[in-house]
Amino acid sequence: MKWKLKFFDYPLQFEIYEKKYIEIIKETLSKGAYILCDDLKKFEEDFAKFVGTKYSVGISSCTDALLLSLYAAGIGLGDEVITVSHTFVATVEVIKFLGAIPVFVDIADDHNMNIDLVESAINSKTKAIIPVHLNGRICGKMDKLLSIAEKYNLIIIEDAAQSLGATYKGKGAGTFGLAGCFSFYPAKLLGTFGDAGAIITNDNQFADKLKMLRNHGRGKGTDIKCWGLNCRMDNLHAAILDYKLTFLPEWIRNRRNIAKKYNDELSEIDALRLPPALENGDEFFDVFQNYEIEAENREELVKNLKDNGIEVMLPWGGKGVHQFEALGLNHFTLPRTEEFFRKALMLPMYPELEDDKIEYIAQTIRSFYR
Ligand SMILES: *Cc1c(COP(=O)(O)O)cnc(C)c1O
Repeated sequence: MKWKLKFFDYPLQFEIYEKKYIEIIKETLSKGAYILCDDLKKFEEDFAKFVGTKYSVGISSCTDALLLSLYAAGIGLGDEVITVSHTFVATVEVIKFLGAIPVFVDIADDHNMNIDLVESAINSKTKAIIPVHLNGRICGKMDKLLSIAEKYNLIIIEDAAQSLGATYKGKGAGTFGLAGCFSFYPAKLLGTFGDAGAIITNDNQFADKLKMLRNHGRGKGTDIKCWGLNCRMDNLHAAILDYKLTFLPEWIRNRRNIAKKYNDELSEIDALRLPPALENGDEFFDVFQNYEIEAENREELVKNLKDNGIEVMLPWGGKGVHQFEALGLNHFTLPRTEEFFRKALMLPMYPELEDDKIEYIAQTIRSFYR
């Protein structure tokens, strides 16, 4: 065993910028700036600028961002919402918590929603679509999805938790529909030291509504204008995220280089299906939140990698949302999603991963299949 390779190296990421983090924490705490303060406002402005929308609203997590977005868009009892089963349970639980009904369509070979299947899932109860841009790649055929949504008068809320900075035909993740939801969970492209999220939108009334909903229905003062919740992003997280945001372009560059190296090293192995190559025209700019592959003999491969000190992960423990018995959604049959979960695994991917380690991982995989 040459190394012990973690799937994601949290302590390393802290170490590199430790001094500055401590400085920010000290400064923010000594000001007593905890809830809805200037650091949050500053981050919201900088984040909106980064993604290219007029507004961004800091939220306690992406789960809460999805919940508030759907609620603010009027999704409720008995409404059907189309999404995918290959996603984190968060995307689907928020639909259930509003009394609405999740409807799954299968995925395509790029592991994202198969947009060609969406139209046949629409009926008179359908109100919204949640495309999920996984692994740092925007769902293919987003323009087709937009025209379907327009034709049937449906709302699009994007789950962009894994695709901050990704573009499709020059347009950024989260900017296609009414709103886009992001996660700053520690392992995400831009992560903080805990939970946080954001919603982006170009609709100022929608943004104002979200600001009320995240703060107990309050307007500018203490007057309560509507029912709400407590879903605010902590000011301290905002201060940290605003600093980290300046590094994001560099981190994305690193992730793309790592993905390219994996692709080059692994492309000859017939037993693997790799993510779309980077040089796939200029329609997609992928940011590689994860490097997710499909592999024959996955169980043995995972065991072999583990024996060689390489930690890999199965997406969401190896099951689609419809495959968790307790959730009562197993009436869906999704052949491509189910095939995917039999074969899928994610290789180590973080901006600091070095070339010799990638080579070691690739070489271990090559010898496994030899
Ligand atoms: C991480 C993630 C979420 C949830 O984000 P939180 O900030 O942890 O609530 C939702 N959807 C997808 C696709 C995710 O990867």
